[in-house]
Amino acid sequence: MEIDQAKIPQATAKRLPLYYRFLEGLQASGKHRVSSSELSEAVKVDSATIRRDFSYFGALGKKGYGYNVNYLLSFFRKTLDQDELTKVILVGVGNLGTAFLKYNFSKSNNTRIEMAFDINESIVGEVIGDVPVHHFKNVKEHIEGKVEVAILTVPAAHAQGIAEELVESGIKGILNFTPARLSLPDDVRVHHIDLSVELQSLIYFLKHYPL
Ligand code: ATP
Repeated sequence: MEIDQAKIPQATAKRLPLYYRFLEGLQASGKHRVSSSELSEAVKVDSATIRRDFSYFGALGKKGYGYNVNYLLSFFRKTLDQDELTKVILVGVGNLGTAFLKYNFSKSNNTRIEMAFDINESIVGEVIGDVPVHHFKNVKEHIEGKVEVAILTVPAAHAQGIAEELVESGIKGILNFTPARLSLPDDVRVHHIDLSVELQSLIYFLKHYPL
């Protein structure tokens, strides 16, 4: 079935990597089918939502059979560009940045941090977790036309200026781990992950909305 990517709602698209990772584990363990309730339990999304999500790409599931793991995976691979390796850069090789460089993303999906950038001369020239660290002043020549996604782990006060330079060098997507709110052109997508806010909100919900 030919799928029109534009018809997949954003909320559904955001859940696809979650489904993908779980299904890959199932396939690796030799399972060929999965029920929506099994999936629901594993990825913590209610089964009605899963059924609706899957209906967008023609995976309707069969009563008493569930979903075919291989079919779902081949769809997800295509949709998430998992057949292609997506190159990513990281800017800011501090504590958090270093942890990302050492974390092997390609184990669970097809993205790889190709290069990192910093301004600290004692880190520039190093190779951390197989990733070379270059000086940020040379970012454009290293990435223009080659990389579109950046992870930002710099001090908040510098995030806006750095993000603007990244956009000038062709970056179209930024995973922002700094507390700074970035304002960038409309065609640049920013996903914001503020770890301390996430932790605070978890604690707040635990306290005020017990399960
Ligand atoms: P964290 O744990 O948040 O990574 P940290 O204390 O290790 O913090 P920060 O001061 O947050 O370090 O800085 C993160 C990294 O960003 C440092 O390695 C720093 O050299 C780098 N950095 C600072 N300014 C810039 C810049 N303008 N361009 C690129 N990298 C920068």
